[in-house]
Amino acid sequence: MIAFKRISALILALCLVFCLFSFVSCNDNTGDKGGASNNNQTGNNNQTSEETGKIIDLSEYVVVIPDNSSTTVDYAAQNFVSLVEEKTGTNLKIVEDSVAPLQKEILIGNTNREESKTQSPLEKMQYLLFIRNEKIVMQGSGIYVGAACGDFINKYAKATQGSPKIDISSVPSSETLLTYAPRETSKSVIFMIGDGMGFNHILLTEEQGLDGFVAKEFPFAGESVTRSQSVINGDKAFTDSAASATAMSTGYKTINGYIGVDKDGNSVLNVRELASSVGAKTGVITTDVITGATPSAYMCHINSRYAEEELQGQIDALIADKKIDYCAGSVDDNLTAEVKNALSTLSKNNSSFFLMVEEGMIDKASHSNKYEDMMSYVRRFDDAIEYATQFALCHPDVALVVTADHETGKLLPGPTDYGYGFRTKDHTNVNVPIYSIGAGTGVFKDVVIENIELAKFCAGVYASEPFGQTAPIE
Ligand SMILES: [Zn+2]
Repeated sequence: MIAFKRISALILALCLVFCLFSFVSCNDNTGDKGGASNNNQTGNNNQTSEETGKIIDLSEYVVVIPDNSSTTVDYAAQNFVSLVEEKTGTNLKIVEDSVAPLQKEILIGNTNREESKTQSPLEKMQYLLFIRNEKIVMQGSGIYVGAACGDFINKYAKATQGSPKIDISSVPSSETLLTYAPRETSKSVIFMIGDGMGFNHILLTEEQGLDGFVAKEFPFAGESVTRSQSVINGDKAFTDSAASATAMSTGYKTINGYIGVDKDGNSVLNVRELASSVGAKTGVITTDVITGATPSAYMCHINSRYAEEELQGQIDALIADKKIDYCAGSVDDNLTAEVKNALSTLSKNNSSFFLMVEEGMIDKASHSNKYEDMMSYVRRFDDAIEYATQFALCHPDVALVVTADHETGKLLPGPTDYGYGFRTKDHTNVNVPIYSIGAGTGVFKDVVIENIELAKFCAGVYASEPFGQTAPIE
């Protein structure tokens, strides 16, 4: 009994010494932590770290997603893995939940693991991020699973560049509902244009089997007024792609057929050039030919969209002079892969960037009133948006805007086998959608704006000077 008491006293004394040591070591480390949760900061004492489980080695983990997971979860996981590699140099493997459970797993989406069984029903824009046992659980309502992935590495876990060891002491240890809240200011823009894509092109494609156009889940939506200077002048009934793309790239209303020049034919700066001039990396991707009106408006200056040789010459010169970092035209079945590759290239080393992505074929199919073709291009565009969305959620300083240059075909509800019918083979003046997510994009909530405002928004990300036309629209 006496011996026991002596041993107890000895243990107590050792504990006191150890605690004192820990306390001193804490104080040494709180300086640059702003005092936040300093009770748990175990500093460089690995022994203590392992005991409290606050520092983990990511290289011991695998990412688990549901068997036959949704595209959303798939792309969230892919973007998470890229982000972790970028931040910590660690290559995580993605496996499906049909494999036997391991001790250390990162569970993305509703996997079959016990830890993924959560209590909280998730409403729009809500997500969950927490640690249970040794599993890191990331879930979200629809697209917002990506917010959990992004938050984990950008906000809660403290990573040291190039090290797989991360401090998870700030990651919630129980289910806590988090709500998506974009940052105020962005440093990069992904600008996606569905050529000819009106609201009803999206609705029809959804009615014919598309499981929700992904951009409709974005927190903000508005409308863009597409009329060109030719329409304002009374010379034309509706805009063409050249004038509309020029409005969105330069902030000037111009004449149908003009590319990167104002209504008087003067060359005007486009937002990609502006971004490039302040050191951002820039790219253009289209499923149309690279000399098409929309991509050209982000690269060229000429008063005729049909001067194909001249356009090609200007684009070749940009590439040769390395004034554009990514340029891909006639992208066929691999639009999403192209977007993925571009984003990885342009954002390397945490660079600021501007990327324009066009799905150019929705317009072409609508001109010939081909329903099935049109819908297949809306689906292709939707898939690329889905990837870009998860990228934006994993990179909270990126703004993602999805819009169209004009509506094509006057698609209206009506008596066809599809429930909607084309009423013309031309463009129309109907307003087109704007959907936005990411830093600073709350400005598009419920707005109806002229398309030149889209250029001004993009420009504001890279420079504070006024951009585009200052004269009123008339
Ligand atoms: Zn167009």
